[in-house]
Amino acid sequence: EAKRNGRNRFEFYDVKFDEESDEKFSLIQRLRPAVLANQFEVYYQPLIDLKSGQICSIEALVRWPQNDGSLVFPDKFIPLAESSGLINPLGEWVLTQACLFCAKLHRNGYSEISVAVNLSFAQFKDGTLPSILKRALDLTQLNPRFLELELTESILADENGNIPEQLEQMKGLGVQFAIDDFGTGYSNLNFLRKFNAHKLKIDRIFINTLGLDENDVPLVSAIINIAESLGMVTVAEGIEHESALRKLKEMGCDIGQGFYWSKPVPEKQIEALIASQSYA
Ligand code: C2E
Ligand code: MG
Ligand code: MG
Ligand code: MG
Repeated sequence: EAKRNGRNRFEFYDVKFDEESDEKFSLIQRLRPAVLANQFEVYYQPLIDLKSGQICSIEALVRWPQNDGSLVFPDKFIPLAESSGLINPLGEWVLTQACLFCAKLHRNGYSEISVAVNLSFAQFKDGTLPSILKRALDLTQLNPRFLELELTESILADENGNIPEQLEQMKGLGVQFAIDDFGTGYSNLNFLRKFNAHKLKIDRIFINTLGLDENDVPLVSAIINIAESLGMVTVAEGIEHESALRKLKEMGCDIGQGFYWSKPVPEKQIEALIASQSYA
């Protein structure tokens, strides 16, 4: 307790002289009540099957709406939620919302759409994630093979704690896994081979300049080939231009995601997008 007070006091003095920290401090203060009251919104971004051109999946991306109508983006508050323990209740809420929405899409006839949910390293800390996942699946009755959990390589790299056991338990529930932001972390091929995830998502820093900068082509092509040789489906994140899309198709990439098709949008809008393509 003394230690905690000490840290709070440190944070207090630390932020006094620094405007950026001031904003951060105010966000931390408001985050806890917002999490307790579920004052967030889940946006969804489509993933496109590059062969058929159809939406095959949607990624859940959380936003924090403010009183003035603006949105706070996850890069601002997810790290704060991770360091304060709030990522557990927030992550469970996002997971449940995403499963509920996907189950609803299935009931509305869009029965082949999957939903992807991002997981933080911090959510594995207390060992409760497998039971939280089971609860969300039971509650929402979503067929687990349509739920895809996005992990970063840092989660696979942690072999000393009980993260591998938790991942095995979660696999046992029948959900799928994707490796997110590939190429920016450990890029350890041994982890990739051992974990055997369903999808590999190539980070958008490699996709950004594709079709503009010729140097990116052999690199992305190599990643696609590695993923294929490991039996994984490849996803390119951050496609913004036709030129990148054309290159990725040539290289045999399976799935694309990016502003070229759509930004993350609220439930109603993603459902409209899915509906419009189904009857096209
Ligand atoms: P991510 O999982 O890699 O998600 C993709 C991010 O790239 C999203 O940012 C998305 O809006 C952005 N993006 C997609 N296409 C494009 C594009 O064509 N161009 C550009 N410039 N950006 C694109 P967003 O929504 O701000 O999320 C940022 C990160 O926050 C996510 O990266 C993810 O790591 C984290 N995050 C979001 N929601 C959650 C959540 O519910 N739980 C956890 N643990 N993390 C989350
Ligand atoms: Mg992701
Ligand atoms: Mg990513
Ligand atoms: Mg990420």
